[in-house]
Amino acid sequence: MAHRVTLIPGDGIGPEVAAAARIVLDAADVGIEWIERPAGTAALDDYGELMPEETLDAIRESRVALKGPITTPVGTGFRSVNVALRQGLDLFGAVRPARALPGVPIRHPSVDLVVVRENTEDLYAGIEFERGSPEAAALREELRALGGYELREDAGITVKPISVSGTRRIVRFAFEYAQRNGRKKVTVGHKANVMRYSDGLFLRTAEEESRAYPDVAWEEIQIDHLTSRLARMPGDFDMLLLPNLYGDIISDLCAGLVGGLGLIPGANIGWEYAVFEPVHGSAPDIAGEGKANPIAMILSGAMLLRHIGELAAAENVEWAVDEVLARGRVRTPDLGGSSTTMQVAEEIAMQVTAWEPGPS
Ligand code: ATP
Repeated sequence: MAHRVTLIPGDGIGPEVAAAARIVLDAADVGIEWIERPAGTAALDDYGELMPEETLDAIRESRVALKGPITTPVGTGFRSVNVALRQGLDLFGAVRPARALPGVPIRHPSVDLVVVRENTEDLYAGIEFERGSPEAAALREELRALGGYELREDAGITVKPISVSGTRRIVRFAFEYAQRNGRKKVTVGHKANVMRYSDGLFLRTAEEESRAYPDVAWEEIQIDHLTSRLARMPGDFDMLLLPNLYGDIISDLCAGLVGGLGLIPGANIGWEYAVFEPVHGSAPDIAGEGKANPIAMILSGAMLLRHIGELAAAENVEWAVDEVLARGRVRTPDLGGSSTTMQVAEEIAMQVTAWEPGPS
């Protein structure tokens, strides 16, 4: 086999969309050896943890993984598996392309955006102090001594660290992605007028680093203004580069612009490892019913193919998805159809097999 890939089915609709993506990628016939490993509630019974070390080791060994959604049970004291995975493997950049797909009716048919999100810092760094805890009280004292800041006694606190080194690497990553993928402009979203030392630093660092890429235009915009412009004129944007929290929110907004969460793939990328996963969650409301749209997971698989150098196969899979959507005969209920997850996958796999690449 030419490529070892760790497959993590995950929770909820995860196993259904993972099985679907697997048959499509197998049809592309590039010699993938799948190493299937559990995570999420599927791992809890056997391993007592949501992200077993064995699963992390498999990713370290294969370097690439295709992962279904994992839900962290609320109120169980477990830290978010997704955040732990990104931090544990230092997957510092998330890439989420949102492009208008054929046959999916949307308000702005010209949308073709890529969101690049910083994945390790910001309010997601996990530095939190519970309301009423001795640590929160000590921090309140310290803030009073340091700058005369008065926090209410009943405040919970989440810290927002953004560093020059953390920003530099995501900015370089975004601009290099732009160069490699023929993108013309990077728009940096921020709220630097309010958060001068975190968002302000992100903005200044982006501005400095962008000078090394004169062939890619850059602009900056306040995050609130960005949301309103995206809703009205998403065609104005090419790539968006965002700190962690804004990146999370804006990626879902972009998913909405192109027809919903079932369509948007994603990649989490670091220097050493890459984990590909759909933007959507585990959708417990439809799990086990065969209704889940597998396209987000299949397109995540296409991103994986491109990452491992199988460019023709990646194009083939994306073309096959477009073909099936354009015909409109086989589609899941979220797109107004009545086909099952597997019927969609089998139809796409059939197109993949029928593909004849044109002269390049
Ligand atoms: P999480 O906290 O894990 O993000 P969530 O329930 O907030 O979970 P999703 O799981 O992404 O968010 O689901 C949001 C809505 O979108 C649900 O109604 C779900 O059924 C729908 N949805 C998500 N993914 C898909 C999919 N692949 N196909 C069809 N519907 C989907």
